[in-house]
Amino acid sequence: MSEKYPQLVSRFLRYVKVDTRSDEDSQTVPSSPKEVQFLKDLAVELKEVGLENVRTMKDGYLFAELPSNLPDGQGTKVGFISHVDTADFESEHVNPQEVDNYDGHSVLELGTSGFKLDPAVFPNLKNYQGHDLITTDGTTLLGSDDKSGVAEIVSLIEYLIAHPEIKHGPVRVAFGPDEEIGIGANNFDVAAFDADFAYTVDGGPLGELEWETFNAAQAEIVITGQNVHPGTAKGAMVNALQVAIDFHNALPEHDRPEKTEGREGFYHLIDMAGTPEEAKLTYIIRDHDHDTFENRKATMTQIADQLNKDLHKDRVALTLKDQYYNMGDVLKDHQEVVDYAEEAMTDLGIKPITDPARGGTDGSKITFLGLPTPNLFAGGENMHGRYEFVSKQVMEQATDVLLGILQKAAK
Ligand SMILES: [Zn+2]
Repeated sequence: MSEKYPQLVSRFLRYVKVDTRSDEDSQTVPSSPKEVQFLKDLAVELKEVGLENVRTMKDGYLFAELPSNLPDGQGTKVGFISHVDTADFESEHVNPQEVDNYDGHSVLELGTSGFKLDPAVFPNLKNYQGHDLITTDGTTLLGSDDKSGVAEIVSLIEYLIAHPEIKHGPVRVAFGPDEEIGIGANNFDVAAFDADFAYTVDGGPLGELEWETFNAAQAEIVITGQNVHPGTAKGAMVNALQVAIDFHNALPEHDRPEKTEGREGFYHLIDMAGTPEEAKLTYIIRDHDHDTFENRKATMTQIADQLNKDLHKDRVALTLKDQYYNMGDVLKDHQEVVDYAEEAMTDLGIKPITDPARGGTDGSKITFLGLPTPNLFAGGENMHGRYEFVSKQVMEQATDVLLGILQKAAK
């Protein structure tokens, strides 16, 4: 349907039919041979489209380059990055449904599954009056996260090669695995990628521009109890499960995901298991503010110390591990990277939405590896499940934004 990017939609439809779900239980990166195969096929396609220096890097990342066509052959080097894996939801036999010219209020049947996209449940549908939508058939996810990003970047390159009159500096592209299980970008080779800055094209609806993320850590608490027959336990038993409850209750009650929003951080208990003999708690800690993030970790340490003091023995062992950091702390010194994206959107009549992300992106990691990398919208809605959908027009607008950024950076 897109006249400007004739292959954009067909490419997207082709990609989503390939199962590339990542595997949290795998010990390898990429976590699944399905991702390896997709990246292999994508490498062939990138060469056919005309990208140069197409190569597979550590951990399966596919890198490629489009040289500058500026008179001096130089210019600002801009990177675009997407991930090929899909989330932890049914991903075999994706059967995309096309809904042309959606009226913005009808209930959409998802194939014959009985599941429906209902504007009463998903008010975001009302933003899509007149759009051509792609939905699932109700039995799988769609995989717009992040195959819309992949299709947009490849279609952008195709457009640039077909339109040599559009001047741009060196363009770098990267497609990687395992974003959904949080490990794909851990070893992103910033030096080999050789960009001045980059963008992940992995955001949601029109206008999304994320340059602030959470700081993130995981906490594991292992509690060693002292089990005694309950009939004669008085003064002798230390029930590890009770200590675990005490630990949890010592955390501020409000600071939980279900009670926070905006810039409020939290402690999120994600796993608890145990017996009177031994108990284990796992939390994720999230906060946009660096100092508050550090204070949250310190609070956990204090609680563990206090419990050990009260129990007269080191029964509570806390292990804290940082996961990623707020890229805003780096990007505030590289505001031009955010400005290019904001201006490109504004020029296209798109209102940039810059709310801080209540999560992380591959860009949070890549930014701290030394390459400033905010996140741009790719178009997907209701991601990670059967209600996922994307608008063809928004995918085209996302591609226009990438084009606009390149043109701004070339000036
Ligand atoms: Zn994604």
